[in-house]
Amino acid sequence: MCERSGFDASGIKERVRLFELDGDDNRRLGRVLQRQVVVPRAADIVENFMHSLQRLDQFAAIPTNEVGVGRLTGLLQRYLYGFGINVATFEYFEQRLRIGHIHHQLGIPQPVYQSSYRALEYELIRNVPAVIQENPQDYQSLINYILKVIALDISLAVESYCKSRTCGLEHTIETERGAAKRLRQMAITDWLTELHNHAYSRHLLVEKLARAKTTGHALCVIMADLDQFKQINDTHGHLVGDHVLRIAAARMVAAARSGDEIGRYGGEEFLFVLENTDLKAATEVAERVRSRVDADAIRHHSASIRASVSLGIAQAREDDSVDDLIARADAALYAAKLAGRNCVMLEDAA
Ligand code: GH3
Ligand code: MG
Ligand code: MG
Repeated sequence: MCERSGFDASGIKERVRLFELDGDDNRRLGRVLQRQVVVPRAADIVENFMHSLQRLDQFAAIPTNEVGVGRLTGLLQRYLYGFGINVATFEYFEQRLRIGHIHHQLGIPQPVYQSSYRALEYELIRNVPAVIQENPQDYQSLINYILKVIALDISLAVESYCKSRTCGLEHTIETERGAAKRLRQMAITDWLTELHNHAYSRHLLVEKLARAKTTGHALCVIMADLDQFKQINDTHGHLVGDHVLRIAAARMVAAARSGDEIGRYGGEEFLFVLENTDLKAATEVAERVRSRVDADAIRHHSASIRASVSLGIAQAREDDSVDDLIARADAALYAAKLAGRNCVMLEDAA
């Protein structure tokens, strides 16, 4: 707790000095308080304090069960037996800081819990024995001491109460961030193949085409379409078709380079966006993709399916819009289909 709240030995000393609780006289008053007030009257103080707490509307509204109240009573007893004794120690601070943390965990609102110190203060002062009250100077010193210790304890408990709340909020923010990240990922990902979806593929292409025009670097797109896919569905069923789509997509990713962006553009169509890539380099990528998809039969239970893909490539021109570029890649893809499928065509050859 001390570490969490940033208290080291010098911080503890500083805080004790701030509340004027250092020095021998204060240590003596601490011992008097324990001997004359706390030890003989602890049971009454605890009982009255708990009653005053339970009379508060806000406290009654808190869904504290038996365990909660029992835990509070135990805490209060331990608290009282340490009250005003060895205040400048790590243990004292640790226990006081823990109180704020526990109150936060029990769901006790901060004002209610702060006001309860007032009730405790009242109980302690009320139980100062007559023998001390008869001596005005001793009485005044002891009352002052009680007030200062209560003030110190409040400062520590409120600090750790707020720290706990902040940690809780930080945790909530972290959780929300994680959820937002997952949602964003879902919004840009194709559910079946886990590639980029159509919208995000286009978004990437818009960005990368604009960048290519600014930098003057080459940019190519590849439009790829699985061959005779309707037949695969018709022969093996839609679920097997889905499986083939997933495997083919994974093979495409494996065959492409790490920076290449690949999206599922339509049912069995895929759009590749290749930055800093001319037609020659794009052809190499496309050829690798083609041969990888076609390499082995795709197995699904007893079925063994051969899949292949046709690909069309276009390179971005100075005055291209995204649609111009895609249309040329599409035309090249169409040429690849006409040429017998399972092959790569460049825009110029289309
Ligand atoms: P081609 O070689 O000329 O491209 O022939 P094709 O059969 O692949 O082309 P066509 O456009 O005739 O058929 C595409 C098929 O892809 C039809 C459609 O039912 C199927 N398809 C589209 N999306 C999905 C999907 O998510 N899952 C499955 N299983 N099939 C899909
Ligand atoms: Mg097809
Ligand atoms: Mg198609």
